[in-house]
Amino acid sequence: MRSLLDLELVSVTKRYGDAVAVNAVSHLFPAGKYVCLLGPSGCGKSSTLRMIAGHEGVSDGAILLDGRDISHLPPARRGTAMMFQSYALFPHMTVLDNVAFSLKMKGTDRATRHRRAGELLELVGMSHLAQRLPAQLSGGQQQRAALARALITDPQVLLLDEPLSALDPFLRTRMRTELKRLQRELGITFIHVTHGQDEALALADQIVIMNNAVIEQAGTAREVFNAPKSEFVARFMGGHNVIALGGRRHALRADRTRLVVPGAGALPGISDGIDATVTSYEFLGTHVAVGLIGPGDAELTAMLPEESFFAAPVEPGHAVRVGWHDADLHQLDA
Ligand code: ADP
Ligand code: MG
Repeated sequence: MRSLLDLELVSVTKRYGDAVAVNAVSHLFPAGKYVCLLGPSGCGKSSTLRMIAGHEGVSDGAILLDGRDISHLPPARRGTAMMFQSYALFPHMTVLDNVAFSLKMKGTDRATRHRRAGELLELVGMSHLAQRLPAQLSGGQQQRAALARALITDPQVLLLDEPLSALDPFLRTRMRTELKRLQRELGITFIHVTHGQDEALALADQIVIMNNAVIEQAGTAREVFNAPKSEFVARFMGGHNVIALGGRRHALRADRTRLVVPGAGALPGISDGIDATVTSYEFLGTHVAVGLIGPGDAELTAMLPEESFFAAPVEPGHAVRVGWHDADLHQLDA
């Protein structure tokens, strides 16, 4: 169901000179959802986010929020807030003053803005560091301060551009959980730009996949992973093989790809597939990733449960048949 609080892009275009960074993109971002804007570097994610935030003008099209076109409003009047990758904290201000900054700009009195900043620092678990300067904080703490600062304007939509990319892997997973918790608690829309498939799968209620200045596919994490529309989506999401059969291309999840070793007999329910040669295998703990080369030099991966791999191991150079359940073969757009 549509709501006024949905954010809608209507044929939004961004041109830089002759170059088209975002090409007539239309999309409805449902209110109160965690949305990840996912795609390779240079596909137009940041440009899209900056146009929503108002840090970049639209070349064409409209951006609707709360039943009005916000595309020509200044950033502070849109109902959106942006958390920058670099955090952009003021180095000479305490954490508390950084968080309270936009209320100060609005003319809110000192007591009120400090009380509100205190509440937000509490929300992000930073109350004890309110009097520190940004330089006295770790990367993760700076990020929490930047989050509190963006949230103090009570936005309907929080925009985050690669918010986790500066963190080490351990902190990244922790902050990921934290962002998800915050979004649930606040109930507002988060639009989180990332080029990381894992990050998007872990976080998003909705994944919007961009490529070459347009949206390739949008849906829940399970939808885009299990039913990629195009070869680009299948390859970019990873975990899939792209197989040509009868003149059409199909996606087949690597973990649904079976290996039939000649002489070992057919597997029940498994379609006899294509010939391939084993090129490598990697032990990944729960699974073993078997690298294969198939017809037309196509590279394939079979992700086998470790016990089934070690029950009938294959070695590089072995000839095998690659098989599947027909229901797992997913036809791609021509
Ligand atoms: P992403 O965030 O997905 O990596 P961007 O939106 O930053 O992509 O960039 C999309 C395209 O627009 C790229 O080709 C990039 O070089 C170009 N671009 C981005 N910002 C500018 C700018 N300020 N001036 C000119 N070209 C730009
Ligand atoms: Mg970017």
